[in-house]
Amino acid sequence: MKRYLVAPGQKIDLAEFDAGSTAGWKGGKDKVEAVFLKLNDRLEVLQEKLWAEGERGVLVVLQGMDTSGKDGTIRHAFEGVNPLGVRVASFKAPTEEERGHDFLWRVHPKMPGKGEMVIFNRSHYEDVLVARVRNLVPKKVWKARYEQINQFEKLCADNGTTIVKFFLHIDRDEQKERLKARLADPLKRWKFRLGDLDDRVHWNDYMAAYQDVLAKTSTPWAPWYIVPSNRKWFRNLVVATALVDALDALKIKDPQPAEDLSGVVIE
Ligand code: ADP
Repeated sequence: MKRYLVAPGQKIDLAEFDAGSTAGWKGGKDKVEAVFLKLNDRLEVLQEKLWAEGERGVLVVLQGMDTSGKDGTIRHAFEGVNPLGVRVASFKAPTEEERGHDFLWRVHPKMPGKGEMVIFNRSHYEDVLVARVRNLVPKKVWKARYEQINQFEKLCADNGTTIVKFFLHIDRDEQKERLKARLADPLKRWKFRLGDLDDRVHWNDYMAAYQDVLAKTSTPWAPWYIVPSNRKWFRNLVVATALVDALDALKIKDPQPAEDLSGVVIE
């Protein structure tokens, strides 16, 4: 996993990261299926333990360009987790009420509570991505946000939240193919927004904005992973592995009953 982990302060040139990489895995999807199923099972067990322990929370941030596969990652990498303890929060353009507050106001209540795992489908990072590229706020404002984000995440981490962040990295050619497929598929067409094409025009600006996000906000308490995402099966594999690693690191004990049950006989 180390090769995908961004070190704090590491300068990132996304052109050097191959979005189509499968790290030498050959034979594609089929061979990987068994490994992936094992990871899914492991994640299921770990999440159940997190929920039973009820002491700590886990936040998973998913960011990426349109069609990078945020929805697909949620469907596949979290297959099997217990819906009781898992929640997805999606972030759209802020409402008028949300715009009347600081940019983290709407984010804080969505953070995981004790025992919970929450997946952010987009996140507070939109406020240094789309807000920067589309000039929604002055430069001075978005520039200050990197440090504000780091401090906010530190507060949550100090309070018992494990934070793992994934940038789903696809290249512009792959996005072209996916947008074409989306337009042609009657079941996927609803996802097509003309605004996605505007974002595509600004591709290089978005990459520059992502590079700054990765360099400035990968911290020991809330690291970023750059996930090669052109191949969906590989994307799922990397995300599932990093999640299992993060949960394993918590060393959650097996859940214990609240009362002493030794000697209990059920007639
Ligand atoms: P998605 O593409 O995530 O499936 P939508 O098509 O509804 O869902 O897109 C959500 C839109 O909301 C994106 O264009 C995103 O840039 C925008 N958005 C999210 N957060 C913010 C924000 N803080 N400021 C401005 N726009 C935002």
